Amino acid sequence: MHLVFVAGWMRSGTTVLAELLGSSPGALAVGELATMWMALERDDLCSCGQSVRSCPVWSVVAAEVAEIHDIGPGRATSYAKFDGELHAVLRMKRLPGLRRLRRSTPDRMPSDVGRITAVMQTVLRVVTDVSECDVIVDSSKRPTALVVFGLIPGVELTPIHLVRDPRAVAYSESRHRQWAGVEAHLAPPGRGALLSAVNWIVTTILCHRVGRRFPGYRLLRYERLTTQPTETMAAVTGGLGLAPPQFVAPDAVQLAPSHVVNGNPSRFGGRLRKISADERWRTDLPARERVTVGVLTAPVRLAVKLLAR
Ligand SMILES: [Zn+2]
Repeated sequence: MHLVFVAGWMRSGTTVLAELLGSSPGALAVGELATMWMALERDDLCSCGQSVRSCPVWSVVAAEVAEIHDIGPGRATSYAKFDGELHAVLRMKRLPGLRRLRRSTPDRMPSDVGRITAVMQTVLRVVTDVSECDVIVDSSKRPTALVVFGLIPGVELTPIHLVRDPRAVAYSESRHRQWAGVEAHLAPPGRGALLSAVNWIVTTILCHRVGRRFPGYRLLRYERLTTQPTETMAAVTGGLGLAPPQFVAPDAVQLAPSHVVNGNPSRFGGRLRKISADERWRTDLPARERVTVGVLTAPVRLAVKLLAR
């Protein structure tokens, strides 16, 4: 089983990258495996158009997870309870301890980590079997999920770490966003530019430090992806042993069917994905915030430029 893990901070284009990767022949985008359990609990809409529990992929996952791990409605552990168990393991304060774990020494694995990796192994096995795709694309983003999913037995994990200019991220975070779901609702208000910059720095450094341990790790800049999409996707998919997605224009891809159960509402759009750089921050982010975020993040931005490929 091959899992491509899209890592990075929020509002960085991870959804678009996952959609593009998932549109490569032999690959399937499934959204955020770290947050799929509440989608199962609520029976949200899958990007295939069916509700999650009726979806041809996730319904089989649900049946197997119930049978093998006793998780699901009327079972020993509800989806919501398992979501709680998973997020207890994925808390940032667990990261140092998680990084010391090795797949080769399962006897040293804490029981809660062992249970999460066993369940996720079942999920990946079923998704791989039912979809008949060799590569599963997950966009769980956060470094703790990257470490824990790297401990799943029998899974080859390749992280693609997407980094966007933090001033664009701060601008995007300052705006409200509407999420799509069974019932659309407004996401919480954005955080301040300073907090956004600090989060960007911490997440960028941690994703890089964790990700570079895995073979095939790639640090990729959003600006390169959106200004040279064809060349960039050819390089990224080539590194993964995949053919690139089908570009119908230099900046547009015909998206393949996917089974994404959560994430950004853009996935519910048409089957044609236009790729363009969102540069509104250059004119619309207030000058004071632009300078604050720019100065604070300058050393890490420089490092990203030097290390990205
Ligand atoms: Zn589906």
